[in-house]
Amino acid sequence: MSKIAYVNGRYLPHAEATVHVEDRGYQFSDGVYEVCEVARGSLIDMTRHLNRLDRSLRELRIAWPMHRSALEIVLREVVRMNGVRDGLVYLQVTRGVARRDHVFPASTTRPAMVVTAKRIDPETVARRAASGVKVITVPENRWERVDIKSVGLLPNVLAKQQAKEAGAQEAWFVDPEGKVTEGGSTNAWIVDEAGKLVTRPADFGILRGITRTTVLDVAAKLGLTVEERPFSVEEAKRAREAFITSATSIVMPVVAIDGHPVANGHPGSVALSLREAFFDIAEKTKA
Ligand code: PMP
Repeated sequence: MSKIAYVNGRYLPHAEATVHVEDRGYQFSDGVYEVCEVARGSLIDMTRHLNRLDRSLRELRIAWPMHRSALEIVLREVVRMNGVRDGLVYLQVTRGVARRDHVFPASTTRPAMVVTAKRIDPETVARRAASGVKVITVPENRWERVDIKSVGLLPNVLAKQQAKEAGAQEAWFVDPEGKVTEGGSTNAWIVDEAGKLVTRPADFGILRGITRTTVLDVAAKLGLTVEERPFSVEEAKRAREAFITSATSIVMPVVAIDGHPVANGHPGSVALSLREAFFDIAEKTKA
């Protein structure tokens, strides 16, 4: 099946799916995005993803590219046209195409929108969850508005490449106080020495992950105690468990931090039970 992308009103084969050289996303990273998981033919937590898209767009004063209900149809259509049963759907909205100038273009400039989808083998993800992942830590070097899901991801790209070169799968950003903010593309959690789930409050220092929000729901359902507070790298190294959350990894156990094993170096039971209960609680929308 040839891959199809939605580009500004048209469904096109990937080879023809291109954006204009003066798209402000390309020129200035002047755009936002969402990644929504697809599991067993359903989009996961689409409502929350589109609510966050709405917030990101409003923060940057970019208009919706189309009515929300039409956008939902495009997302589902791209998933269907690509035969994605398990994987992800990617959506990007930029301030549009205009002659290069830093200030906003004329208000008549239409936002540009691209949607793509790809398959991810659920077995591969399950195997990864069974063995856990390693993280490294890097100094926080991003701007203060990482709560906006902007396409400007250069520090995240560099941090994740550094992780890969160190034999790890994720990099945790660490603020000047030694506290973990979040991962390059995930939120960070621990189960502390008292057995409480700990994750940083979703203030301006992190992206309010949709998976993070749903995992808070799952934790409440399972009767787990949650503390939304920052935690240090040292505390994470002493923790009973550590894990990361994102739409593509759901709940992924962390088994080592900067080469130091977390607990016995194996995935923890709390992370695995959150992972198992996740799909019972998350919203599912048939593609
Ligand atoms: N933080 C960052 C920096 C991210 O890029 C992501 C992935 N979009 C997340 C957290 C997790 O967010 P979500 O659960 O919505 O995928």
